[in-house]
Amino acid sequence: MDTINRDGRLVGIPASPGTVIGVAVWVHQVPAVQLESSISSDAIQHELLRLKEAVENAKSEITNLRNRVMIQMGPNEAAVFDAHLSFLEDPEYVGQIEMLIRTHSMGAESVVFDVTRRMKEMLMALPDEYLQARADDLQDVGTRVLRLLAGQRAMNLSSVKSGSVVVAEELTPSNLAELPREIGGIVTARGSRTSHVVIMAKSIGIPFIVGVGESIQRIKDGDLLVLDGNQGTVLVRPTMAEQRQAQHHIEVHSALHNVALAEAKNPAITRDGRRIAILANIGHLRDVPEAVKNGAEGVGLFRTEFLYLENDHWPTEQEQYEVYRKVLESFTDKPVIIRTLDIGGDKPLGYANLPQEPNPFLGHRAIRYCLDNPDVFKTQLRALLRASLHGKLSIMLPMISTLSEILLAKGIIDQCKRDLNDEGVAIVNSIPVGIMVEIPAAAVMADILVQEIDFFSIGTNDLAQYTLAVDRGNERVAHLYDAAHPAVLRLIQQTCDAGIGTGIPVGMCGELAGDLEMTEALVGLGLDELSMSSTNIPMVKQRIREIDGIAAKSLVKKLLKLTSAEEVRAATFAEVLGSQ
Ligand code: PEP
Ligand code: MG
Repeated sequence: MDTINRDGRLVGIPASPGTVIGVAVWVHQVPAVQLESSISSDAIQHELLRLKEAVENAKSEITNLRNRVMIQMGPNEAAVFDAHLSFLEDPEYVGQIEMLIRTHSMGAESVVFDVTRRMKEMLMALPDEYLQARADDLQDVGTRVLRLLAGQRAMNLSSVKSGSVVVAEELTPSNLAELPREIGGIVTARGSRTSHVVIMAKSIGIPFIVGVGESIQRIKDGDLLVLDGNQGTVLVRPTMAEQRQAQHHIEVHSALHNVALAEAKNPAITRDGRRIAILANIGHLRDVPEAVKNGAEGVGLFRTEFLYLENDHWPTEQEQYEVYRKVLESFTDKPVIIRTLDIGGDKPLGYANLPQEPNPFLGHRAIRYCLDNPDVFKTQLRALLRASLHGKLSIMLPMISTLSEILLAKGIIDQCKRDLNDEGVAIVNSIPVGIMVEIPAAAVMADILVQEIDFFSIGTNDLAQYTLAVDRGNERVAHLYDAAHPAVLRLIQQTCDAGIGTGIPVGMCGELAGDLEMTEALVGLGLDELSMSSTNIPMVKQRIREIDGIAAKSLVKKLLKLTSAEEVRAATFAEVLGSQ
């Protein structure tokens, strides 16, 4: 795959937004390692002692990093380092290294190198982004132990100058914790947008592009770069004109953002008077303050799977209830759409013992898993129903592809209501139940499905993946993945038409909802509600206030006749420019 586009920009996967101009600083990870290192049997004890010392020193370095991150970023980011410490306590890892030094009479370096590589490969082979993030953690730990065995001090990343753009084959959470918070941006050859290091960078607002591939070698230390974390592009050694253009873009964007933020608490009403509800996507209770600050008019998607993924046991009804109640209370009279568990397939839970599947994205996930595991489903539904008294709850079902799934899920919801009523537990009995439209079948059948639900919410992240047959997390096909593709737009239109025809609200909670280039098209398609990352809310609201409904409709007519996402982007970009 060519990761360099026509105007010479390197293209990767946009992982954390923002544009920056800065000087490249390469961070290399290669540890010094002696691979052929048989030792005499007399030296085994000495080697085990060296290993023990390196492991203890690694633990103390990691604990220091953990404490630093806790102060600078917070407990969730610091938790990554608990995962690192747990590898150093894990008999599968350290125990295996000790055993191999003893039985194979090998030097500690080569055994650490080997065991780390093998365990990492095993984790990487699992079809799951979360476990792949564990593989990165393991590599981070292994590299640290190797460095300490070699008697090397840590790379001095803390002296990297403010505003620099860090360039690496791959970056680890430890690297990021050691770098100054004032770095301008990050670009890596590999990595996924859901890795720990990306999540940490996002939380402190550092633009980040992953998956640039081999073309990253075009960047040399000291090169000036323009990194665009929204588009996922890097311009290497820009001309003066390109620098001026980028600087202008940054200034305009920051000024516009500040203006938009000042107006963020006001509604988004088009020039012809149509109000579009703008809500936030959240994954945790801790995301609520940011959503409120940016003017969210409720929650359009609460991804509850994090509650499960970040636990080492099935979260109990009471544990879930507490979280749902607090989120609902934070928004009182504003709508909060909570999505039931979207787990399985590509997001397996260790404690759920899910079997490995050859095609996890097409496998036993989300509603399919919940319907086959009614105890898990009912625990969540009971927690939701009990929390319903504390706000304006809607329940959303993920990955619906057939009418029968809706009917079965509604049957279980009704059963839970009856049980709670019988137990004398107070609940709201009329809770709206809607579905995610993220499988093409649901969009195509929307006119039928609409009869059984209270709202649609279009999940363009998966809808694009399934419509275009492009794995949303695979950097090698990332250039083919764009939810602005006319085929996806046609499915959105079909869903909107079904909603409009029956008076059922249609929202969108995939990433396309926060994509400013597409806002006018989404208004023209007839969406009632857009739900997005909180940081996008002010600008999207501002954009909607500039839009005229009739012009938006005629733009849509034009877009639906185009043949590619590139053509759609060119047409919508021209509209955005025209409106300024
Ligand atoms: C989507 O698929 O668009 C969506 C919002 O769900 P998720 O990204 O959690 O799969
Ligand atoms: Mg989805």
